[in-house]
Amino acid sequence: MRPKALLLDRDGVINLDKSYVYKVEDFEFSEGIFESLLRFQQAGFLLIIVTNQAGIGRGYYTEIDFWALTAWMVRQFKNHGIHIDKVYYCPYHPVHGIGAYKREASCRKPNPGMILQAIEEFQLDPASSVIIGDHESDIEAGMRAGIGTTILLSDSEARAASAASFTVRHVSEAVELYFGN
Ligand SMILES: [Mg+2]
Repeated sequence: MRPKALLLDRDGVINLDKSYVYKVEDFEFSEGIFESLLRFQQAGFLLIIVTNQAGIGRGYYTEIDFWALTAWMVRQFKNHGIHIDKVYYCPYHPVHGIGAYKREASCRKPNPGMILQAIEEFQLDPASSVIIGDHESDIEAGMRAGIGTTILLSDSEARAASAASFTVRHVSEAVELYFGN
């Protein structure tokens, strides 16, 4: 049986979106994120992060900054008994990227590139996998990659117009919806 994964956007899902977060001191975990991911992990989901990081392309921070923060974040999860299987990121921006970072990229959500790469690398079953994001571009990327369940985290009017399978206000609500308690 091919494994299933919980694919997670980072900013606005795992941590509060303070825009272009790259320092540990600005990285604030979302309420309930550890309990929620633990629940998915215990249900046999791989945990994979797929994050647009155009702040790299824009020159706001470097790939080294990103990886340093990622290493710290992964350690915090580990301290809570959570194993993050992989972090994919897309540093490009088609308009505001600097130098080689200025380009259209198949990895930049709403394109499904990072998710397709994860499916290939982990031989995932997309239909039984889940994606959680806080923008419609996350939902679109998931749908284009054939992810079976798409969950939008939002408390704005975007909720009504979303193509997502579910819209919830908190990640813990996604757990309740998915596992039914
Ligand atoms: Mg986001």
